[in-house]
Amino acid sequence: MDLGLQEKVIIVTGGAKGIGEAISRLITAEGGIAVIAGRSTADNEKTVNEIIAAGGKALAITAELGKVEDCKKVIAETVAAYGKIDGLVNNAGANDGVGLENGSPERFMASLQNNLSHYYNLAHFALPYLKATKGNIVNIGSKVASTGQGNTSGYAASKGAINALTREWAVEMLPYSIRINTVIPAEVWTPLYETWINSLPNPEEKLASITAKIPLEKRMTTSEEIANATVFLLSPRSSHTTGQIVYVDGGYTHLDRSIS
Ligand code: NAP
Repeated sequence: MDLGLQEKVIIVTGGAKGIGEAISRLITAEGGIAVIAGRSTADNEKTVNEIIAAGGKALAITAELGKVEDCKKVIAETVAAYGKIDGLVNNAGANDGVGLENGSPERFMASLQNNLSHYYNLAHFALPYLKATKGNIVNIGSKVASTGQGNTSGYAASKGAINALTREWAVEMLPYSIRINTVIPAEVWTPLYETWINSLPNPEEKLASITAKIPLEKRMTTSEEIANATVFLLSPRSSHTTGQIVYVDGGYTHLDRSIS
């Protein structure tokens, strides 16, 4: 199936690693241009160079996305390079363990700044360009918004807000034919996941107990499986899909995990 993404300019936040990297690679494999925005210049350039070596088109932009000025810069540099924006993948985030008991008001607000504010800020600054192209947005959320996890209030609040904003933005953007959708991962092996599991007392045991509870095939979701759904939603093949929250999680969130 031709997804119709040739020469489409799509910003992917956190597009150098993990899920974002898989999304960047798939966009470029489909003929699109991935603009990778993230905090590490070295990580961004490594992925961009690999994409270019494979015959794709990509651009690296260093940005600490919790800062409003950096979000503005991402949009300005993208437009300076390509003159348009066709899509935005809000993906960057981190499960930063700011709990109700173990956190603080300051750490809670900082978590919202790092996990939520840039989803809004980038969408806001990209809007004039998305209106011009009838572009669209895919957010990457988390099952934690539906299930809770414990000891991660800031991250859970951010992901819950992202689900709410998916519906809110989809309604507001109807007059412009800008579609907004969200993809929800549950358990995906990425650098973030590895860091999180290794922060727990018995990481190997914990990992085995988690994968045993994933209904479909008792395995983690791959980053490529998240990318497949995301890029399909970005593409004109999804032209009448908006306001949807799509769970790509092997049934983790909704199926009865006690049955097996
Ligand atoms: P990852 O491996 O850590 O990759 C995320 C990338 O985004 C990294 O390059 C990271 O930079 C960058 N980043 C994060 N916050 C940033 C910020 N505020 N400013 C600039 N760059 C930032 O993470 P992942 O596992 O692929 O997760 C991607 C998305 O999926 C996140 O929104 C996460 O919540 C969601 N998710 C993942 C899972 C999972 O199982 N992996 C499950 C549910 C939801 P650094 O490495 O330098 O920090």
